Amino acid sequence: MNAQESLKAWFDLNKRDLPFRNKPSAYKIWVSEVMLQQTRVAAMLPLYNQFLLSFPDMETLSRASEEEVLEHWRGLGYYSRARNLHKACQIVTSRYNGRFPETLEEALEIPGVGPYTARAILSMAYGKKYAVLDGNVKRVISRIFTESDEKKWQSLADSFLNLDYPGDHNQAMMELGALVCLPKPICVKCPVQNSCKAYKENAIDKYPPSKLEKTKFELELHFYLVYKQGKLLLIQDSSRRFFKKLYTLPFLIEKAKLPAKEAKNYLNPSYMKEMLDTLPSELIPGTASHSITHHKIKIFCHKTSKDLPEDFLGGHSLYSKWIDKDRLEMEFPSSIAKKILKFLPGNGLFQE
Ligand code: SF4
Repeated sequence: MNAQESLKAWFDLNKRDLPFRNKPSAYKIWVSEVMLQQTRVAAMLPLYNQFLLSFPDMETLSRASEEEVLEHWRGLGYYSRARNLHKACQIVTSRYNGRFPETLEEALEIPGVGPYTARAILSMAYGKKYAVLDGNVKRVISRIFTESDEKKWQSLADSFLNLDYPGDHNQAMMELGALVCLPKPICVKCPVQNSCKAYKENAIDKYPPSKLEKTKFELELHFYLVYKQGKLLLIQDSSRRFFKKLYTLPFLIEKAKLPAKEAKNYLNPSYMKEMLDTLPSELIPGTASHSITHHKIKIFCHKTSKDLPEDFLGGHSLYSKWIDKDRLEMEFPSSIAKKILKFLPGNGLFQE
């Protein structure tokens, strides 16, 4: 038996009986993955079962009102994820007739669906040959291949994929990381021990490198409240370092404390700097803190002149829209938007 076969046999014997593993549809997996982003399995299960009873398929969820969806999300928190899932289901329903697309490219076009979720859904629902990489799988892969460089983990996970059972393999890898290959691993119980380089080299404590897990990059994000006729400007630009797929208030990254070799990954798009630097603006007093993966972020907000030049966005190819300020949290579905709300007029820090 090779490593993939041993892993599959171990998974068949040891897998937890979870409802989204029974006849998994893309929709069921999608809902479970969104819920699991914020909650542990045991806490999420009752809410998941109730959600599926009320919204058994994508079409039912698409037709539901936002209030109904949020009502069923009560207890899970992070309502922006529910709104995003609801909106994304509506897009899939109208664009793909209610069937989750089958290619990675199309799946990644759906708002809120990142590489991990797309790969999980495509492999588990359709048997597509994509390996997933979540926090647990990263630890396992780093140890099996004694590889410290995070950038190489996805291709190593792809090379380790069981091509006959990609969906089961992905779940088995996540389960292995959750039950056996823990931060303090139980190697005696491990089905891939024979193929694990870290085990053979007695170097388990070196992988994944702890420095990688602990390093926090500090930086400031300066958001700009740009108004036109009482509406706020949102921008989407996939060339930015953060929020590549989301509409956000325009922002600049400032005063980043980063290792020199990382600096090039945190540059502001030049047009954005040019636009925001030339716009008369005033810093709103106060800050908020936020974390994104290994980034420790201080948030600042600036209000800009209401007399926005007509050609403000002229010449720049980016997506933009103007929204009512009370829709900010909905249109910019990130918990950072909630923190920005207090900088808005009438919410405390802002003075007209
Ligand atoms: S042998 Fe140990 S370190 Fe290697 S994958 Fe298995 S549990 Fe993890």
